[in-house]
Amino acid sequence: MRWASWNWGGRDHVGTISADGREVTPVAVREPALGVLPVIQAMAAGEPAPETSGTRLPLEVVRLRSPLPRPLRSLFCVGRNYHAHAAELAGSVFRESMPASDPWPIVFGKLGDCVIGPHDAVRLPSPAASIQIDYESELAVVIGRGGRDIVRSRAMEHVFGYTIVNDVTARDVQMRHQQWDLGKSFDTFCPMGPWITGADEMDGRDTRVRGWVNGVLRQDGRTRDMIFDIPTLIETCSRGITLHPGDVIATGTPSGVGMGLKPPQWLHAGDVVRIEIDGIGAIENRFE
Ligand code: MG
Repeated sequence: MRWASWNWGGRDHVGTISADGREVTPVAVREPALGVLPVIQAMAAGEPAPETSGTRLPLEVVRLRSPLPRPLRSLFCVGRNYHAHAAELAGSVFRESMPASDPWPIVFGKLGDCVIGPHDAVRLPSPAASIQIDYESELAVVIGRGGRDIVRSRAMEHVFGYTIVNDVTARDVQMRHQQWDLGKSFDTFCPMGPWITGADEMDGRDTRVRGWVNGVLRQDGRTRDMIFDIPTLIETCSRGITLHPGDVIATGTPSGVGMGLKPPQWLHAGDVVRIEIDGIGAIENRFE
């Protein structure tokens, strides 16, 4: 199943996307402003999927929102999770103090407040705040059943589904501070969507992630090339910390970010970043 949230007729709705991706069907949820979160929570508690409540509509007449417009808390984000990306940013974002052979993934937080919809505009900050704005195309894992100290071998049982995240980053701010959270969490810096494709429909452990800037392909990777695979990331993030239904783990970006180009190329007003992941769909956001 594909779960989405959208606005139509001035109201928020939650529901499913048809198999051909062309229609939406609403379901009954108490707080549609929260997107798919109440559905994930109910199903994680063992309840059946909510019932259809309304008529199908063509996708093009609704405005898709993020499937999780107000996440429970910060997103768990993984840094340096593809070898080619580690190489392109060696010595800058990934300093010598972080050896590539490190047996532990880099995990940082991205404030949930910066999540926006799959076609919403990203607001560029003032030049005083940052002049090095970059994109990162990423597969995001949405947790279903929660848990703590989840072991690798059982981790996939905790996956509700997958969505797309652009881990937009202010590189100058990211590098200025020992911790990355500030440079990753500017307002509007987390486009998400276009929906959540359920784990019943796809396996995120091997799919293709591509990113374009103004129609030019910049990133093209496969999730099977991750340094730390999805079960390892779930095991890592749940060690001593209870994961809740609806938590999001952004799994890191393949090579081809703007900072890795020679010379680096930053995003400017009018640029459009498109990210497509096989099995999910695409998000496309203009920078303003
Ligand atoms: Mg990232």
